Amino acid sequence: MPSATYPNLLAPLDLGHTVIRNRTLMGSMHTGLEEAPAGYERQAAFFAARARGGVGLIVTGGVSPNAAGRLAERASVMTEEAVSGHRIITQAVHAEGGKIVLQLLHAGRYARHNELVAPSAIASRINPLVPRALESEEVEQTVADFAAAALLAREAGYDGVEIMGSEGYLINQFTAPRTNQREDAWGGSAENRRRFPLEIVRRCRAAAGSDFIIIYRQSVLDLVDGGNSWDEIADQARGIEAAGADLINTGIGWHEAQIPTIAHMVPRGAFVWAVEKLKKQVTIPVVASNRINTPDLAEEILSTGKADMVSMARPLLSDPEFVAKAAAGKPINICIGCNQACLDNAFTGKLTTCMVNPFACRETEMPLNAAPAAKRIAIVGAGPAGLAAASVAAQRGHNVTLIEAGERIGGQFNLACRIPGKEDYAETIRYYEGHLRDLGVSVLLNTRADAAALSRLQPDEIILASGVVPRIPDIAGLDRASVMTYEEAIAHPERVGDDVVVVGAGGVGFDVAALLLHPEGACAPGESDIAAFSHDWGIDLDYAARGALLQANRKWPSRRTVYLLQRRDRSKFGAGLSKTRGWANFLEVMYRGVQMIGNVTYKNVDDDGLHVDVGDESRTFKADTIILCAGQERADELLAELETLGVPVHCIGGAKDPRELDAVHAFEDGTRLALSI
Ligand code: SF4
Repeated sequence: MPSATYPNLLAPLDLGHTVIRNRTLMGSMHTGLEEAPAGYERQAAFFAARARGGVGLIVTGGVSPNAAGRLAERASVMTEEAVSGHRIITQAVHAEGGKIVLQLLHAGRYARHNELVAPSAIASRINPLVPRALESEEVEQTVADFAAAALLAREAGYDGVEIMGSEGYLINQFTAPRTNQREDAWGGSAENRRRFPLEIVRRCRAAAGSDFIIIYRQSVLDLVDGGNSWDEIADQARGIEAAGADLINTGIGWHEAQIPTIAHMVPRGAFVWAVEKLKKQVTIPVVASNRINTPDLAEEILSTGKADMVSMARPLLSDPEFVAKAAAGKPINICIGCNQACLDNAFTGKLTTCMVNPFACRETEMPLNAAPAAKRIAIVGAGPAGLAAASVAAQRGHNVTLIEAGERIGGQFNLACRIPGKEDYAETIRYYEGHLRDLGVSVLLNTRADAAALSRLQPDEIILASGVVPRIPDIAGLDRASVMTYEEAIAHPERVGDDVVVVGAGGVGFDVAALLLHPEGACAPGESDIAAFSHDWGIDLDYAARGALLQANRKWPSRRTVYLLQRRDRSKFGAGLSKTRGWANFLEVMYRGVQMIGNVTYKNVDDDGLHVDVGDESRTFKADTIILCAGQERADELLAELETLGVPVHCIGGAKDPRELDAVHAFEDGTRLALSI
């Protein structure tokens, strides 16, 4: 797969016994397909699509080596009975020229069932269940279970295993004093604590043979109190190499860490410095991970010798052809770090998919087939729903015209990408600009779609995706100059004063607060800074502290005073935010000093400011700017006009239902509709 642009990324990696075709590793993700009906067949289709798209080495979702280590009651365990099912996956990947390894993950105290075990009987703050401490002989048996599972993986056709030693799972619990307070040979000194992973690697190598890939996923930054020190991390890596691992993949932060490690506010490549430090300790290849989402960044990491391979999990969800497209210079559907359809789904028991690629994990359910007959399709509105519909309809062979009133495609993503930390949302717009051009979609910008304009296009079908506009709540005095909508505030933060009231504390309200409290106001794409991020969240770039964790800075500078108001009780603040990154959004604005007030009843706005009742108490906020973040409503009422044209008109996204709209639904709505025409 030659490419002048990415010579290092696309270079093969020779492990001695196995050659990996390029330097990309698809990181492990639990998708929910593992436990779903026809799970093996669906995983086979999911992974085969990524192998076809050129990824070098795939790591499956975590499978436990024994029953106690399963993540949840019905989660996967590697057993003899499971081998034939796993063979469906490995054969599908190999048929596409790919390689795949099985991740062996023992959840330890993170398990969500009653038989959970750990080095010591210490519960995690993210799991109410208290683990039972393993007896010494049970530790020996667990090591043997890892080795037996590695052998079963080989029988199932896997090219190797990845031993999950990071993110705070069982092995990590053994290595860190935070969770290992044992007094036998598996606890106490650092040497004793790392005995568990070293024995597992050694026994897996002995069981599975010398030509089997063994990856050890090591936590390079624990980011928790009582985590490993740098010296312990370095000693562990050297021990892992000596025990027979082929590769060290890296993991960042335990799941219970209170520092975001993969959400969109984490700068790209924020932890590569620690990977580079680790790489100097060993001679086997080291894999960089976390927030590496573009081939340019991956190439930069490899070409500067900071790592030997790059791991990307979510970027392979958002675009299964990431590698092939990088090689061919085609636009890539970049992962924007939102977590909204992948991790949020996984942590709420739903099937994982991707906001910007609704086909992910639905490869068998939503095949992208050619349309029975090519039609002329006019799509009104180039926000997420319209873009998805245009892409899918064109790929199915339809002749598509996309009409947009604004000067750029992207709809609400043009606002989102101005929020600090959400700069990657601009990548989705850039992707669709190139992708739709490659598909031959006719994009008409600055064009008002009315019945006459559409009639000239002579469409066979019309898709109305005209999106949403801010909802104006029924509060007297909102016509005053001090009041603006969230659209105006995000587009022109320089017009916002220093004393601000934000009306509505949903996702948009938090975004507006984050923007206004940011020291620079709106920030340019790519401006995020690793040093500033590390300082704000308390990450020790010198790695002098255990776990690389410094005292968190809880007062971040901001020039504005911002009140965030909501009708609901104060305890419900942030309740509607993302399950897996909402806590970080919440802390971010809290550390910048936003004042959150619940139980608010809005009365009116006059020269004195915004008058409200807070519970039983009347209050007036003397804000110089009041920003409305009170939901959305349909952009316009084109539907009745378009229906006079006598062709089918389909409404999608906000044009169909603005009440519960989010970008996940918008992309999926557009995709499903275009698959049905
Ligand atoms: Fe990335 Fe968001 Fe898709 Fe998850 S849902 S893979 S974070 S773009």
